[in-house]
Amino acid sequence: MSLMREAGLEVRIDAAGNIIGRRAGTDPGLPVIMTGSHIDSVPQGGNFDGDVGVIGAIEVAELLREHGIATRHPFEFVVFTDEEGGVVGSQAMAGRVGPGTLDVVSHSGLTVRDGIRTVGGDPARLAEAHRAPGTLAAVVELHIEQGAVLDETGTDIGVVEGIVGIRW
Ligand SMILES: [Zn+2]
Repeated sequence: MSLMREAGLEVRIDAAGNIIGRRAGTDPGLPVIMTGSHIDSVPQGGNFDGDVGVIGAIEVAELLREHGIATRHPFEFVVFTDEEGGVVGSQAMAGRVGPGTLDVVSHSGLTVRDGIRTVGGDPARLAEAHRAPGTLAAVVELHIEQGAVLDETGTDIGVVEGIVGIRW
């Protein structure tokens, strides 16, 4: 959250416990462009699982600020909570937290409900974390390959060498 604030973002924690840094666009009527990832991980997840997507997103925010670049769309830089548990953060945004989920006891010993409170969310208002269809223009997640298949075959994907910018 401090890195997000240093990048000039307005930071909040939504009802599901997702950390969201917002940067206004010049046209507030446009839907949000969202990028980010998660900072929880799994055994053998490595140093970059999730983290690279979060730090990469904050780097984008810093670059936009450093260069004084205004975007038409509002931007939101997000750290999804409990991504590896897969039951809360992004699921709440999608409006898909299953019945009984909040009562599940995780290996921390806390219920999911208490876990959400611990990270600053509000499980009683989970519906407020839902992003209705049409309110997000795009969601982009930078993520490492986890299966090692492409790595072992020496196949490069997603290596950006150029980008088209069309201005009408
Ligand atoms: Zn991941």
